[in-house]
Amino acid sequence: MKIGILGAGQLARMIALAGYPLGLDFIFLDPSVDACANQLGEHLHGDYNDPVLLEELAKRADVVTYEFENVPAPVAKYLSEHTRVYPPPKALQVAQDRWVEKNFFLELGIPTPKFALVDNLDDLTQAMSTLGYPAILKTRSQGYDGKGQSILKSAADLQVAWDLVQGLPSIVEAFVPFSREVSIIAVRSVSGAVAFYPLSENLHKGGILRIAESRANDVMQAQAEGYVSRLLQALDYVGVIALELFEVDGQLIANEFAPRVHNSGHWTIEGAETSQFENHLRAILDLPLGSTAAVGKAAMVNFIGGLPETADVLAIESAHLHLYGKSPRKGRKVAHVTVRAANTDSYRNALDSLERLANQVDDS
Ligand code: AMP
Repeated sequence: MKIGILGAGQLARMIALAGYPLGLDFIFLDPSVDACANQLGEHLHGDYNDPVLLEELAKRADVVTYEFENVPAPVAKYLSEHTRVYPPPKALQVAQDRWVEKNFFLELGIPTPKFALVDNLDDLTQAMSTLGYPAILKTRSQGYDGKGQSILKSAADLQVAWDLVQGLPSIVEAFVPFSREVSIIAVRSVSGAVAFYPLSENLHKGGILRIAESRANDVMQAQAEGYVSRLLQALDYVGVIALELFEVDGQLIANEFAPRVHNSGHWTIEGAETSQFENHLRAILDLPLGSTAAVGKAAMVNFIGGLPETADVLAIESAHLHLYGKSPRKGRKVAHVTVRAANTDSYRNALDSLERLANQVDDS
């Protein structure tokens, strides 16, 4: 069985690493010559819109999936007319546009920050008269890891913020004074079986995820499962999905969802009975889903822009190193490390050591 993946970055790489024990093969389509998954399968090198490559992918892959949400939605739609494509292209289309996504949340009764459409500086000025400061201006598409975003603290920031988004179609949304950020990773198979991972509690640095901790038995688990279930159902979803949420006064407010395996779920490789990567494959192949139960207490730390020495990581008890095979560059995720321990003390010690190491080597 051959799985086609649009994108050949670290997420595709980890999907492939989970797939080999299941006897699966991989073929990737990615515009970058040195995409880091290409050691793990055949690499069709070229543009996502290249009709010849798309035809080849559709012919060679039994099922096609994708590893990031900026793959052009029409490409997924085209492929779905020739082969099976999961998650459904509709999920991609919704997640690619913050305006569409936020309206989708509202239709499904999922709380989301107040927001308004901004096509020009007048729209922005008008919206801010009702929204109130602080707020965040975000481009409707192509934004991730805090890119294409600007904080508005007062009317004096409007022009600068608008210049920063370079006049691109945007939304402005109320700044949420959250007590913490969490995400829920869920998975649904072709025949409709659903499973949820324990919540991840996420810490960002400079708009980029830095630490994700597994939170078995979190008080917000049921609320998060309720919201993500609505997405799964409305999209007739297949595969892994991640919903990012803010917590304010015991209420969860949706920020965005990702129709793919997610950075905040990397701890599931060692910290759950079945990883998000394996369950994504099981789901799209309509195999029985694996248990999502936590194994010990786990956390993942991203390495951004700088690589740790392998020996330094492995000297930390219960640390598991995942190098992505990418050369370090400012702001680039090049590795993550998971710590998993059976008791709180060893977990804390390991996570503290890991954080110290990450602070020494990364540039964020
Ligand atoms: P995003 O690209 O939308 O996921 O935003 C990146 C990060 O910016 C989030 O994880 C939050 O830490 C922060 N952020 C985004 N939107 C808001 C908001 N409306 N209120 C407060 N913080 C936000």
